[in-house]
Amino acid sequence: MKTTAQAVIIGGGVVGASVLYHLAKIGWHDVLLIEQSELAAGSTWHAAGGMHTFNGEANISRLQKYTIDLYREIEALSGQSCGLHPNGGLMLAANQGELDSLRLICSRARYLGMETEMISLEQARQLNPLIDSSHFIGALWRADGGHCDPSGTTHAYVKAARQLGASVERFTRVLSLSQRADGSWDVATDQGTLHAEHVVNCAGLWAREVGHMVGIELPVLAMEHHYLITEDLPELRGRDREIVNTTDYAGEIYMRQERGGALIGTYEPHGVVWSPVTTPQDFSMQLLPDDFERLAPYFEIGFQHFPALGRVGIRKAINGPFTFAPDGNPLVGPVRGLRNYWVACAVMAGFSQGGGIGLVLSRWMAHNDPGQDILSMDVARFGGFATPKYTSLKVPENYSRRFRLAYPNEELPAARPVRRSPIYERLRTAGAIMGANFGLEQALWFAPAGVAPTETPTYRRSEAFAFVRAECRAVRAAVGLYETTNYGKYEVSGRGARSWLDRVFACRLPRPGRLALAPMLSAAGRIVGDLSIACLADDRFLIVGSGFAEEFHLRWFWAAAPPADVSVRSACSTLCGVSIAGPQSRALLQRLVRDDLSPAAFKLFQLRQTAVGFAPAILTRAGFTGELGYEIWTTPDYFASLYDDLWEAGRPFGLTHFGGRALSSLRLEKGYGSFNKDFRPDYTAAETGLDRYIDFGKADFTGRAAAIAERAAGAARRFVIMEVAAGDADAIGYESIIKDGAAVGYVTSGAYGHCIDKSLAAGYVPAALARDGERLEIDILGEMRSATVHLSPLYDPQGLRLRG
Ligand SMILES: Cc1cc2nc3c(=O)[nH]c(=O)nc-3n(C[C@H](O)[C@H](O)[C@H](O)COP(=O)(O)OP(=O)(O)OC[C@H]3O[C@@H](n4cnc5c(N)ncnc54)[C@H](O)[C@@H]3O)c2cc1C
Repeated sequence: MKTTAQAVIIGGGVVGASVLYHLAKIGWHDVLLIEQSELAAGSTWHAAGGMHTFNGEANISRLQKYTIDLYREIEALSGQSCGLHPNGGLMLAANQGELDSLRLICSRARYLGMETEMISLEQARQLNPLIDSSHFIGALWRADGGHCDPSGTTHAYVKAARQLGASVERFTRVLSLSQRADGSWDVATDQGTLHAEHVVNCAGLWAREVGHMVGIELPVLAMEHHYLITEDLPELRGRDREIVNTTDYAGEIYMRQERGGALIGTYEPHGVVWSPVTTPQDFSMQLLPDDFERLAPYFEIGFQHFPALGRVGIRKAINGPFTFAPDGNPLVGPVRGLRNYWVACAVMAGFSQGGGIGLVLSRWMAHNDPGQDILSMDVARFGGFATPKYTSLKVPENYSRRFRLAYPNEELPAARPVRRSPIYERLRTAGAIMGANFGLEQALWFAPAGVAPTETPTYRRSEAFAFVRAECRAVRAAVGLYETTNYGKYEVSGRGARSWLDRVFACRLPRPGRLALAPMLSAAGRIVGDLSIACLADDRFLIVGSGFAEEFHLRWFWAAAPPADVSVRSACSTLCGVSIAGPQSRALLQRLVRDDLSPAAFKLFQLRQTAVGFAPAILTRAGFTGELGYEIWTTPDYFASLYDDLWEAGRPFGLTHFGGRALSSLRLEKGYGSFNKDFRPDYTAAETGLDRYIDFGKADFTGRAAAIAERAAGAARRFVIMEVAAGDADAIGYESIIKDGAAVGYVTSGAYGHCIDKSLAAGYVPAALARDGERLEIDILGEMRSATVHLSPLYDPQGLRLRG
């Protein structure tokens, strides 16, 4: 065995094999894959090999397309067949909601350049004559996809990697990992110890255990999964083409041709967790006992929807385990606090995603940048809240919903509530309908007294529409209260804090008593954060950003290596917050604060460290609604008192609660983008418009060279707000934006602007189309809706109310 390597990849399933290939391809030839058994011996060998481009996140869809296209490349390089059956895919809808969902997939695929089409049930039956179309109302066909041979594909990656200089050790088990002072690793195996600069956890079913080797608890769990292979079907005899792989959402069934028969699998509602605590070491090339009694009712649905399958016998049954993260997307990337330790695990669709994961991880390792936005599969989307208990509840929920289409207004119930703010019960009593953000319950909207706090899942406007409208209007007419505890909060302090932050952020740092909007760029000039910095003292700062990005931003700060005289601390659980917004907010707050809040005394982006009622607080004049407004931060022990004081003082002013839905509407009326939706690492400073907050005069900050180059060259595309002639559905996100029949971009967020009575969408269009009044179209649920670009905010374009 080698004694040194630039990188050791632990695990020779399809994911480890892809990472090995991509590292070798990017130029890291001294890489070694260590596999405790035979290649593909974990969950890979018994997979059904299905591959497709479907994912709720556009960037993951793109990587899935890359994976599928890659197979020809590795076949050519290795001479090893991947056993490809590129016969495309069919998705069947049985109700209006599923049909809407397929139409959204179709709209998105247009911009992604994927050949996808809504087709009739008659056409669907020509592609797969086994469908009983009486159960369905619509179908989507896509050209990309099909199935491959799991083992052949894994070996093709490995052989191609070997051609590029990579090595493999089979029947070698990694026993422990210990880090040296320089950040490199001693990798102890049952065949001896080797020294590696980097290690990658691609241990699939054992990813949890390989995480334990470095003291981390990855949110990953395995579920049992069954599929059946039938005897030959007379209906398929004599056909010159294979039937198209078919997904039946209502039946929660997937099926495809397997030689002369069919393969049918189900994601049943009450799935079984496999090895919840420890994965057995000796589990290799093994299957699990069948459980037909439990699964019969679910396969029975399949036999109704594809009746020919019920008329023949079962040739083979497979029950095997594979792993999931709580939201079903993979866990990829570096782990905060662990230099040179990378993960690529919890991959539940290895044959659709393995190639893309290898691509982005190899770039991340070699260039310190995944090269594209992969927030939705970044391991940092989970934080401390994703405990083993949380994972044990969320993974089965995700498994049971694997083939249920997710509605944009749907909140999933498992593992809720986990994190609650001190005013959680008060908000519930006020009618709040809650969602979870980074494990924390947050109000989405409020059902007035006498209205049931529930909402029907839909892609169209729901019964909440009227109540969100009332919330928005109350904010603009008088004053509203929104809880901001769910924002990400960080305290940075120490003698070196100012100069360190000055390098990490692109903006000019505020002086004590002031606040600044603070874009954070990657070295390539892409947006990795859209935060605000409040300067509490020359050596003390409060930074506020998106709650979901807490771990992502903490990892970013950690990677930016704060010097010894700088302390960086998450304040997520030590500070609670509330925003008061609306023309009456000043008068309301003045009743609780001794400081003079008059416009001349307390201006936009100023702050005070003061008392608000009972609560010692940091008070800033800021907000996200475009109205006169304030944010108040205090510690959890005072927070309920602060809320009570505000509520009491607010009564005469008509204080109203508002939730996340109203905030989305209010911010789009003002043209404000939001991190994760509109501002993501896919976009640059000039594209987002956040370049206006960059201090180009600073000598040094991350992303400076790229931002300066972009300023000289001009942005290729621009973030714009569009007014949409919508019907009963507003844009949600990822709908294609069309100009003269060609997709030129996609929507990043959408909402109804209740105070201007217009449907709104935000997105990026080529710079030449970013003109006031430019006429475009947006494909919303299969209908072409005209859209008009507005370069100034549709509400209060001069910002008079904000500054008032
Ligand atoms: C029944 C079934 C059907 C499926 N169908 C599909 C499908 O149609 N399409 C699809 O895309 N996916 C499918 N999957 C999922 C697919 O199998 C997984 O996405 C994929 O196998 C994950 O690969 P992996 O490399 O992450 O993990 P694994 O295949 O589990 O590989 C991990 C490897 O790491 C090795 N290892 C672990 N610990 C150590 C150690 N300490 N030292 C050395 N080596 C170690 C293991 O031996 C193992 O070989 C299916 C799964 C099942 C169970």
